[in-house]
Amino acid sequence: MKTAACAIIVSFLFLSGAQAQSTNDADNSAIEHVFNNARIIAGDGSVVEQGSLLVRDDIILAVGPAASMDIPATAVRHDLTGKTIIPALVNTHAHLGWEAYGDWGSQFFTATNLTDHLYRHAYYGVGTIISTGSDKEDVANAVKLEQLRGNIAGARYHLSPGMGSPGGGPNPRFTDDPDYWGVHSVADPEQAVRTVRELATSGVGIAKIWIDARDERRGAQVKLAPETYRAVLDTAEKYDIRIIAHATTLADHKTLASYGNRRFIHMPYDMAVDDEYLELVRENNIYIVPTLGMITKSELWYIPAFQDPYFADQVPASVLATLNENYNPPATNRSAAAEQRSAMLANNLLKLKDHIILGTDAGAVGDFFGYADHVELALFVRMGMTPAEAIVAATSRAAAAFGLNEVGSLRAGKAADFVILDANPLDDINNTRQISDVYLRGERVDREALRARWTLSN
Ligand SMILES: [Zn+2]
Repeated sequence: MKTAACAIIVSFLFLSGAQAQSTNDADNSAIEHVFNNARIIAGDGSVVEQGSLLVRDDIILAVGPAASMDIPATAVRHDLTGKTIIPALVNTHAHLGWEAYGDWGSQFFTATNLTDHLYRHAYYGVGTIISTGSDKEDVANAVKLEQLRGNIAGARYHLSPGMGSPGGGPNPRFTDDPDYWGVHSVADPEQAVRTVRELATSGVGIAKIWIDARDERRGAQVKLAPETYRAVLDTAEKYDIRIIAHATTLADHKTLASYGNRRFIHMPYDMAVDDEYLELVRENNIYIVPTLGMITKSELWYIPAFQDPYFADQVPASVLATLNENYNPPATNRSAAAEQRSAMLANNLLKLKDHIILGTDAGAVGDFFGYADHVELALFVRMGMTPAEAIVAATSRAAAAFGLNEVGSLRAGKAADFVILDANPLDDINNTRQISDVYLRGERVDREALRARWTLSN
């Protein structure tokens, strides 16, 4: 256990509702705010140059050329000349609560730490986060409730309880606890039906299934059987629960898709996708979270977080030192097989690009909350997507995949969750890092205060 990391978690206090809502502007929620002269990337593929964004409370009232909208004389005006507005990002794959920056473990899964992770996402412009299948549900539901009551700001939190074969589920590296495994066991179709019904009764809207044999610690190495995950999918459909499936092989993806699964964590990593699969993906409007960040760490161009100023400026030096100590640089002589595999993965990504959505796996294996989202966006583009395509994948499409209709695009009636950038990400996707301000629920996120809190090194 790293004491420095622990001290940060212990010292992190819940922000009260009043603190969470403090802004630089007059804090009068009855007043409209209008953001003028900005390039507005709406998230759905459209762009307005010299546009205005009109907001009241936590809702967008209008988006477009200023001349096209009725701006109240009392509106607070913000001149964003030279700046770009994008929707706050929507991350559909992370594991909140376990990470203490430099260490992982069940003992860190507290309301305080979970809340901190919501603020870390907000700091980096991520407005919505789906934590996939590893959350301690009692703690998680309490935090979610406090957020709905307005007492916790940060990224909008969605949890998705997990199901797997007995002993299967989350990677034991980050959930290593002899008394807690963090997943609902579904050994057979009957148990699958029962479990999904129980989740529905407790109000679950999103759930995850692990198909792979992920039971390294318990040693059984049992995959989830097709008849069992079919029962999960059929029952979830009845109760309107959106399932996301962890699967990494082309064969499993095909079987899942043919059983009606519409959301995948990971793309096929084992071989090139074929026409049969692409047809299934197109016909069923399937969404795929490729999670490239975790599979590119062996690349020579990979920059570890502790060497990247964009990460380093929001953690104490002790965390950077720990990460540096534990870092295994990639081999300088890459095999022909490794080169081939990289090319195959990039090719898969491009064939699936109209179905790709953002997810990072942050919190599991050394990808850091919020920071990893910008790394993933850059990887989308490095592997051949355009910046415009990458932004759609990280906003409107990611929201649509889970029916999160209030977020993901800048349109009248949508949530006022947006990021103001100092440079245009359509020119260079790395410009998503040039954050001037983040607004969530119409309130400015106090990034300076968060950074000050996080960089205390005691
Ligand atoms: Zn994951």
